[in-house]
Amino acid sequence: MTARDAEVIVVGGGPAGAATAFFLARAGLDVLVLDRAHFPRDKPCSEYLSPQASRILHELDVLEALERGPAAHLSGMRVVAPDGTSFEGTFGAVQGFRGFRSHGLAVRRPILDQRLLSRAREVGARVREGAQVRDVVRDNGRIAGVTVAIEERVTTLRAPLIVGADGLRSIVARRTGLGAHGRWPRRLALVTHFAGVSHEREIGEMHVFRGGYLGIAPVGGGLTNVALVVPAGRRDEIRGASAEFVERTIALHPAIAARLAGSGRASPVRAVGPFNWRARVACAPGVALVGDAADFFDPFTGEGMYAAMRGAELLTPYAWEAARATSLGTHLVALQAYDRCRRNEFAGKWAIERLIGAAVASPRLMNLAAASLARQPALAHTLVGVTGDFVPTSEVLSARYILRLLAGAIPRGNRKAPVDKPLAVAR
Ligand SMILES: Cc1cc2nc3c(=O)[nH]c(=O)nc-3n(C[C@H](O)[C@H](O)[C@H](O)COP(=O)(O)OP(=O)(O)OC[C@H]3O[C@@H](n4cnc5c(N)ncnc54)[C@H](O)[C@@H]3O)c2cc1C
Repeated sequence: MTARDAEVIVVGGGPAGAATAFFLARAGLDVLVLDRAHFPRDKPCSEYLSPQASRILHELDVLEALERGPAAHLSGMRVVAPDGTSFEGTFGAVQGFRGFRSHGLAVRRPILDQRLLSRAREVGARVREGAQVRDVVRDNGRIAGVTVAIEERVTTLRAPLIVGADGLRSIVARRTGLGAHGRWPRRLALVTHFAGVSHEREIGEMHVFRGGYLGIAPVGGGLTNVALVVPAGRRDEIRGASAEFVERTIALHPAIAARLAGSGRASPVRAVGPFNWRARVACAPGVALVGDAADFFDPFTGEGMYAAMRGAELLTPYAWEAARATSLGTHLVALQAYDRCRRNEFAGKWAIERLIGAAVASPRLMNLAAASLARQPALAHTLVGVTGDFVPTSEVLSARYILRLLAGAIPRGNRKAPVDKPLAVAR
């Protein structure tokens, strides 16, 4: 038998990798995490965690420390459509459903990610920072290790299971042929922080305009996260001038400019994208993918980190079986079961993500949807509860919800009955 360096090698120590390492090390496996970065490291992100992400943070035993701050507690989301119509969904106001917390948590990524990785270390995972994985190693028709550069020295590390948790355009997914660029969403993001933005209350804001959207959310410590998302076709205008591009875009939209008036940029502008990345399947012999490496969620719904950590939770029992399997057959059965489990878990989210993506890309559709949701707060709370990960997607993908949304989009004079009745949803 070939010598091995760990039972599981996790490539990437972000939320997906750190959570995977935590759960597997806690279950008794010998886990080695490799990340090219040195922590704390920043990551372009709107830095908001859904109410249900708090359940997993609690399981990882980091929630209470993160909540003590610096952090912000977001009561819900406010969306402003291109014509200025706005609606608001409150996490604590969804009839029949309760999240683990009644608020979302906004925390700077350097704080969050370092805390998560430290927790993985505390339960026994070994973590190697400054370790850049360059390729995968094949042996007898399966992936059996990785080639990694650590302080300029290139070496091979082996394990019965490699977990690709290395984010958007994952090297593990690319080298195993699992990942591919899709047609959608071809968008870029520019993320920065402002100081001095006033917040009457802590809430996430999404301002949608023709050709993009901009998110504004407090993240504690007097800082506000500002994330601008635009079509990837604007890449040439952004290259080398990302700060100017953000400032120009804000100035072009008076409502956004007014919202940020009197504040100033407090961190560099970081660019990321395009986001059109998705793996066909999340496993191959010797490999499983988790987090953004498996599929990227559009930042609009702020679900990426929940999906990354939830994916790690789902992977744990299957990874354990795959790492300890005594035959290739049982190893594969475990990994294929993980892939099916992911699909069951996230299929509804993918559908809703596409519907929201289509609305965001069409100002007319967005205006109509916003008008309907503004007239029917119960529908807005339900939608925001779904993006908050504690209301099942079936609540929004139901004929009843869609009909009410469509009915609400018709101007009052043309409608027969008022539709602003709360949804009678039961658990
Ligand atoms: C603009 C924007 C806004 C967003 N806003 C939100 C939000 O508000 N809420 C939310 O939940 N999600 C949000 N997301 C999504 C969220 O950032 C991701 O879903 C989340 O970071 C995924 O975690 P991950 O661990 O899979 O990947 P990452 O956090 O990207 O971590 C991957 C890790 O792998 C390491 N790595 C990469 N390549 C290699 C290599 N070759 N060798 C070794 N290590 C490697 C990296 O250094 C990194 O530490 C947003 C994303 C964008 C772009």
